[in-house]
Amino acid sequence: MDQPISFRIAANEGNARAGVLRTRRGEIETPVFMPVGTAGSVKGIRFEELENEIDAQIILGNTYHLWLRPGIETIRACGGLHRFIGWDRALLTDSGGFQVWSLGELRKISEEGTEFRSHVDGSLRFLSPEVSMEVQAALGSDIVMAFDECAPGKTPHDDARTSMELTARWARRSRDRFDALQRDEADTGRTLVEGLSGAQALFGIVQGATHHDLRRESLDRKLEIGFDGYAIGGLSVGEEKNVMWDVAGEIAPLMPADLPRYLMGVGTPEDLLEGVARGVDMFDCVLPTRNGRNGQAFTSRGKLNIKNTQWASDQRPLDETCRCSVCRRHSRAYLRHLYLSGEMLSSISLTHHNLAFFLDTMRRVRQSIRSGKFTQFRREFTEMVNSGVE
Ligand SMILES: [Zn+2]
Repeated sequence: MDQPISFRIAANEGNARAGVLRTRRGEIETPVFMPVGTAGSVKGIRFEELENEIDAQIILGNTYHLWLRPGIETIRACGGLHRFIGWDRALLTDSGGFQVWSLGELRKISEEGTEFRSHVDGSLRFLSPEVSMEVQAALGSDIVMAFDECAPGKTPHDDARTSMELTARWARRSRDRFDALQRDEADTGRTLVEGLSGAQALFGIVQGATHHDLRRESLDRKLEIGFDGYAIGGLSVGEEKNVMWDVAGEIAPLMPADLPRYLMGVGTPEDLLEGVARGVDMFDCVLPTRNGRNGQAFTSRGKLNIKNTQWASDQRPLDETCRCSVCRRHSRAYLRHLYLSGEMLSSISLTHHNLAFFLDTMRRVRQSIRSGKFTQFRREFTEMVNSGVE
């Protein structure tokens, strides 16, 4: 029987892999960085730019935000998320678990699911594996994430075990409800493509905080259920970087070699390379968009804070090696002026450059793996990024 996605590895170097992930909405070259489109928009950039110049092959949508506003009735009435937002390429939606977890004291977790107050209108809402699958079917995203509970980095072993076991039971319930919804044709994104089933793909999430035994057990329990791809969740939430890489470095290579591996919510450009070196294929993070709005540019020589006085009359682009349309046209001096004047073009320009830089870095990563030069590329890139902007 045809699968919802196919994944082919074209080249390996150590644990790093370059491949092609085929979805019902096009091919995605991996390793890939996925821009985050929280509420159905990647903040500060139009879809034409994402498609043409940035050439994003897949973006993320947030189940939690879209469920609360505009709500699934509206999105279903508009033909699903792709049609609603005007994006024909691949979409991945998260499960809402992480957003609800981030509400902290405002939520109550039980075996059944999570109760919380909506940040939009204060109403009491309930999110469970079943509800999350129903919302993601209505959105019609091409890759669906199982509903999980996030145990952050510093969670003690006992609590992390309880949470990991809950996540395993929720994964089973996610799988069951997801399969029923596919049979009932609730998925608004279904489309026929040669060689694929046309259904949504479902990824399982490995939790277990920083405890390696729990992480391995969490992976085993997801493998027993069976998913189309596997993700590492609950990292980059308070633990030290080296601890995060120890966990990812052990778990990613244990995941099935012939399926995509996704490290959720990570990270800086240097982090992407570290993840790739450990065998990760997919990444997402709000850093390029959020920091762009806060006046911070990511460059080949590290972070550049556009508000600094030293750029007041600097005629050079944000990054002298970047070929994006912002760097081809505008100077640091002008971008600094825009930021200090509170012009929205400041956020738009820095977001554009940051996304261009992240996606271009991943293009170079893929090329370097395919030509057997990833180790060299990683060393040179890391040295350069740490050298500092002048
Ligand atoms: Zn640029």
